[in-house]
Amino acid sequence: MVAPFTLAGIEVAPGQRKVLQLALAQLYTQSPLTVPLEIVHGKQPGPVLLICAAIHGDELNGIEIVNQVLSRVNPARLKGTLVAVPVVNVFGFINKSRYLPDRRDLNRCFPGTEKGSLGSRVAHFFVDKIVNHCSHIIDLHTGAIHRSNLPQIRAKLDCDITRDMAESFGAPVILDASIRDGSLRAVAESRDIPVILYEAGEALRFDPVAIKAGTRGVLNVMRTLGMLKPTAKKAPMDHMIAKSTTWIRAEQDGLLHLKTRLGDRVTKGQCLGTITAPLGAAAREVVTPKSGIVIGCLTMPLVNEGDAVFHIASFDEVKQAEMNVERFVDELDIQPQSF
Ligand SMILES: [Zn+2]
Repeated sequence: MVAPFTLAGIEVAPGQRKVLQLALAQLYTQSPLTVPLEIVHGKQPGPVLLICAAIHGDELNGIEIVNQVLSRVNPARLKGTLVAVPVVNVFGFINKSRYLPDRRDLNRCFPGTEKGSLGSRVAHFFVDKIVNHCSHIIDLHTGAIHRSNLPQIRAKLDCDITRDMAESFGAPVILDASIRDGSLRAVAESRDIPVILYEAGEALRFDPVAIKAGTRGVLNVMRTLGMLKPTAKKAPMDHMIAKSTTWIRAEQDGLLHLKTRLGDRVTKGQCLGTITAPLGAAAREVVTPKSGIVIGCLTMPLVNEGDAVFHIASFDEVKQAEMNVERFVDELDIQPQSF
């Protein structure tokens, strides 16, 4: 039998689960603002896995993924401990905003300090109270507002454990992504905590594909880490690691007419859409300079020159990548809304 798990002074016995509300700050009204979390502590030893969502307060798919994962985890059978934080940026969440009230991006404020700016204090709180007590992290994100992402994992793949987590998640695309200063991934790396980031869908939306794939992916990683029993072996998905990605930007202002959708395979020189004026004149094609798979796409038609319209991932084996996306959609058995 393992020892109780203690976080923020609260003890959770082996084989138990507990919901906590950690006091973070106060609203202008002096009402307390708390960070909700649930701890599921297994009876047998194992990793302490943090799954967290809504570091950007308007990214909702991850919140539902956290809920669905929790509903499938039984503390009597779990090895290790699951620490689930559905809403990290509670300030942004209650304002339907990506940002904090001081307009900072929380994912650029890590590790933060106790006496710094609001963003710095929220980051420090999260690291001190939660991150420092965990051994592995899955950070759940979506595209920005009016931009949707094909389910994808971003991780630094030079660490074997991180790579195993990234590959076992089962997203159709993996990006070997460099780490940005101030991000949760940066603070995790500085503490040798393996971390992967899941991106899927768009802000302020529930996307059934993103949620189902994310829930399945987190459970897959938990099996890889030995926290859950393995299921009957399916043929593993080929791990399609992008060799590079390219943003395609609008070259004129106007109304975008898409000819391409998320997950589509595109070929260098192909027209992916046109931008027109309100009376239909001045059509200008949006042409891809690279072959690859569309992994990010604008979801509303108003564009200004310079706006990112498509995000294209390039692969050595682009045909294989296309088949991977098709198999991924087939296996989920959900009619995609956005691709
Ligand atoms: Zn995000």
